[in-house]
Amino acid sequence: MEKIIDENKQGESLILEQKEGNTRKLFIESYGCQMNFSDSEIVASILAKEGYNTTQQLEDADLVLVNTCSIRDKAEQTVRKRLEKYNAIKKINPTMKVGVLGCMAERLKNKFLEEEKIVDLVVGPDAYKDLPNLLSEVNEGRDAINVILSKEETYGDISPVRLDSNGVTAFVSITRGCDNMCTFCVVPFTRGRERSRDPQSILEEVNDLWSKGYKEVTLLGQNVDSYLWYGGGLKKDFDKASELQKATATNFAKLLELCAEAQPKMRIRFSTSNPQDMTMDVIETMVKYNNICNYIHLPVQSGSNRILKAMNRQHTREEYFELIDNIKRLIPDCAISQDMISGFPTETEEDHQDTLSLMEHVKYDFGFMFAYSERPGTLAERKMEDDVPEDTKKRRLNEIIQLQQKHGLYRTQQHLGKVEEVLIEKSSKKSDAHWSGRNSQNTVVVFPKENYKVGDFVNVKITDCTSATLIGEALGYSINN
Ligand code: SF4
Repeated sequence: MEKIIDENKQGESLILEQKEGNTRKLFIESYGCQMNFSDSEIVASILAKEGYNTTQQLEDADLVLVNTCSIRDKAEQTVRKRLEKYNAIKKINPTMKVGVLGCMAERLKNKFLEEEKIVDLVVGPDAYKDLPNLLSEVNEGRDAINVILSKEETYGDISPVRLDSNGVTAFVSITRGCDNMCTFCVVPFTRGRERSRDPQSILEEVNDLWSKGYKEVTLLGQNVDSYLWYGGGLKKDFDKASELQKATATNFAKLLELCAEAQPKMRIRFSTSNPQDMTMDVIETMVKYNNICNYIHLPVQSGSNRILKAMNRQHTREEYFELIDNIKRLIPDCAISQDMISGFPTETEEDHQDTLSLMEHVKYDFGFMFAYSERPGTLAERKMEDDVPEDTKKRRLNEIIQLQQKHGLYRTQQHLGKVEEVLIEKSSKKSDAHWSGRNSQNTVVVFPKENYKVGDFVNVKITDCTSATLIGEALGYSINN
C-alpha cells in the first residue's frame, strides 16, 4: 500500500492508503459509532484486493458505499437524504453502483432494496467478506444482499486500510456484537452476539500501527469490558469451554496489559465501557501502566433506579456510584464521560431529577446526550408506550446538556496552571497557527504551532479553557516523544 496526502471536506490534510495498480474507485462514507468507522476500514481493505482504491470525489466513484447507523430515527433519515444525493450523482455517472452497509442495512434487510431503488447492494456488519461475490452479482445487473449475522466473525485476519487518517491515532476493534439487551437499543439485533478477537491478531495490528508511525490506539467494542478470548466462539458459550480454555482465557484487563507492554510508548485508549461488566482489575491495570490513558467512557443512560430497571441496565445508581468512587480513588485525575437518554417511557420528573443528581455526584468531563428515540424491534418498542411528550423530552434534555456544560467547565478549570502531555493530531479548527491534540484525559488542547509537528508529544502549560477545550503554551517535547 502507498500513502498519499489528500484533504477531507473540512480542508484537513489526511493520509489515504492506495494500492498500486488498482483502477476502480470506491467512495465510502460512515455514520454512527466508531465501530462503523473501523468497519469501513475493513471494507476498504477487502475491496483493495478487488482493485478498488478509495476516493474523496463522489462523482468519480465506480462504487459508493454508505456505512449506516440505526441507533436513532434521525440517523436513518440522514442516510435516506444521502441516497437522494447519490441519485442526483447517478444521473451524471450512470454506471456507479450504490451499496448500504452497517446497522440500518441489517435492520431493514430486503426492505432497503424495495424502499430505495438506487440501492444495488445491502450488506450487514458480519458479511463484509462476501462483498467480492455480491459485487459480481451487482455487476451482472442483479441486486445483491447478505445480512447473515455470524457467531465467529471478528475480521481479525483483515488488515484495515486507514480512512480519513491523521496518521497518528487509530481504532483497533477487539470485540463484535453485544449480549446486554438494553431495552431501548437495536445493537444486539443489528450486530449479533458478543465475540472477541484473538489477542495475537490485536497485538499484530498494534505493533504494525506503531511501525507505521501511529502514536495512539483506541481498543474498540460495543462493550469492551466483556472482552473474553478463550480460543474463539461466543462469549455466552464460555461455560461450555474446557478447563484449560478457561484457565488460559484472556479477559479485558489482561488484553490491556498485553497492549501496554507491547508498545510502552504507544498511548492506549478504549471504548465503550459498561458499568455492569467493568471490573476492578481494569482500573488497577490503568494505574499500573502510564501509557494507558486516564479516561473512561462510562454510559449510564439514567440516574433513576426505576428507569435503569426498565432499560434492563444490570446495575443500580448506588452500584454506579461505587464504581465511580473506586475509579476516582485509584485514579483521581481520571476523566469520565457519559451517555444519557432523556424521556425514556414512563420517566417522571422525579426520575429526571435522579439523573441530574447523579450527574452532580460524578461531574462528568463530557457526554453524549439524546432524547429517547423509539427503535423498531426493541423490547421498549414492543412492550412500552413512548409516553413522554416530545417537548418534555426536549426540556429535560436541555437541562441535562446545560448541567453537563457547567460540569465540563468545572472539569477543564481543574487543568489551569498544570502542564499536560499532548499528542498533536492536526491544525486547530479555529486557527491555522495553532495545533490541536488531546491530553491523557481525552480533552482537546490547543496551542501555538512553533516548530512542532503532527505526531509529537509536547508538554503544554494550560493557561485558559472553555467548557470543552484547554488552551496553552508549549514548554517543550515530553519524554515520550
Ligand atoms: S450495552 Fe446496551 S446500549 Fe450498549 S450496545 Fe449493548 S445493548 Fe446497546
